Amino acid sequence: MSTKAQIGVTGLAVMGRNLARNFARNGYTVALHNRTASRTHQLVEEFGEEGIFVPAGTAEEFVAALERPRRLVIMVKAGEATDAVIQEFAPLLESGDMIIDGGNAHFADTRRREKELREKGIHFVGTGISGGEEGALHGPSIMPGGSVESYASLGPMLEKISAKAKDGAPCVTHVGPDGAGHFVKMVHNGIEYADMQLIGEAYQLLRDVAGYSPARIADIFRSWNEGRLDSYLIEITAEVLSHVDAATGEPFVDIVQDQAEQKGTGRWTVQIALDLGVPVSGIAEAVFARSLSGHADLRAASRHLAGPSALALPESEAAAFADRVEQALYASKIVSYTQGFHEIAAGSETYDWDIDSGAVARIWRGGCIIRAAFLDRITAAYEAEPGLVSLLSDKEFADEIAAAQDDWRAVLVAATIQGVPTPGFAAALAYYDALRAERLPAALTQGQRDFFGAHTYRRTDREGSFHTLWGGDR
Ligand code: NAP
Repeated sequence: MSTKAQIGVTGLAVMGRNLARNFARNGYTVALHNRTASRTHQLVEEFGEEGIFVPAGTAEEFVAALERPRRLVIMVKAGEATDAVIQEFAPLLESGDMIIDGGNAHFADTRRREKELREKGIHFVGTGISGGEEGALHGPSIMPGGSVESYASLGPMLEKISAKAKDGAPCVTHVGPDGAGHFVKMVHNGIEYADMQLIGEAYQLLRDVAGYSPARIADIFRSWNEGRLDSYLIEITAEVLSHVDAATGEPFVDIVQDQAEQKGTGRWTVQIALDLGVPVSGIAEAVFARSLSGHADLRAASRHLAGPSALALPESEAAAFADRVEQALYASKIVSYTQGFHEIAAGSETYDWDIDSGAVARIWRGGCIIRAAFLDRITAAYEAEPGLVSLLSDKEFADEIAAAQDDWRAVLVAATIQGVPTPGFAAALAYYDALRAERLPAALTQGQRDFFGAHTYRRTDREGSFHTLWGGDR
């Protein structure tokens, strides 16, 4: 009898192919399947010597190649394609088998699919995978949802292929039931949007206010990467900024169209935050900033609008300004993560997932796009106090923001005077100031609502709901 595969991957585009190779390189026998068979053949031809692959031409052959209980990973385009693949394979599976969806599915779809398949005795494991194609091959950060039982079977394999943090811990944990893994991956991507926007704003300030060239800014990012901002995104930013376009000799960043695209996970993060009532203003500004950049006609029609007459800083003041930008970036980053983790806590509460925020921070320390030294700090904050209401309640983060805030404010003043849009920095500071405020104008809002709609209000000095009989002919 031929050897059965311990795991199978269907969907062999960039992600699926590299994930299959990662399993094989780690000693697992991997069954392979793809709608278009040429991709399967190509993988075996190019990388067959990396491990033991069992190519399958049909769904039936693929399922028959797997040991039981079957572990079947789908890495296809999220949405209708995922449903089509599930419909193709589910009738061929038996009770106890597992379908692992490693695509970027919406967690609500994952909840629906999990429920439908559970009724058939099949474990559906919605799994967030971050790290892009390189991560899939060398070790991604993996966020599986689904049943505890499925994790008992899959966990050791995922731990083996996952990234390892600097302390050697695998970047995977059982996030929680049904859609919890995809929810956490969604928020990961939302935070990624915010990180990228904040980095973009720092770059623009260094360019327009400090008057630095892309190459010089790349050096600044390199030096920041040696400190508390040490992260994959800061590292690649330096690479992108120092890259010179071969065709023109111009800085690469100057020849790329300044219209950012998006695939949807950032938008989902904000949509769900609105539903859950969680203020993720930094992430929202990042999504809106991409959207604004893409409105070429609107921007072209607005170029004549007046801007400030302020000039870039003199060279003698530029270096000190760059240091302030580092403070502003770091403080704003703390706020973005505070907001993201708030959304995870709210999702966990609403869907009864019991997500361990500290474990999430732990598995984001390696492999994923937002990996950063900073995540060690978040992990430590949750370890010190698992029920932490907000990252800003952690004394060390609060102290760091306290130390950064004067520079943070000064950077926003400079941005305003020079007319450099900094929606991420500004939203983060507004969130910080709103949270620490003794009184908010929400009291006035409540008064207005009671005035025009008799919506009632609560008082500061006694319990109950009140309505004022406002004057006039209302
Ligand atoms: P993709 O471009 O999203 O999808 C291509 C794959 O989907 C191909 O194997 C294709 O098969 C298959 N497919 C499409 N429609 C299908 C259908 N109706 N029935 C069966 N198969 C179908 O591939 P990807 O970039 O490798 O991403 C795979 C998944 O991982 C996606 O959900 C993506 O969002 C997620 N993801 C991607 C990244 C990344 O960095 N790219 C990172 C994390 C997660 P054919 O070859 O037959 O066309």
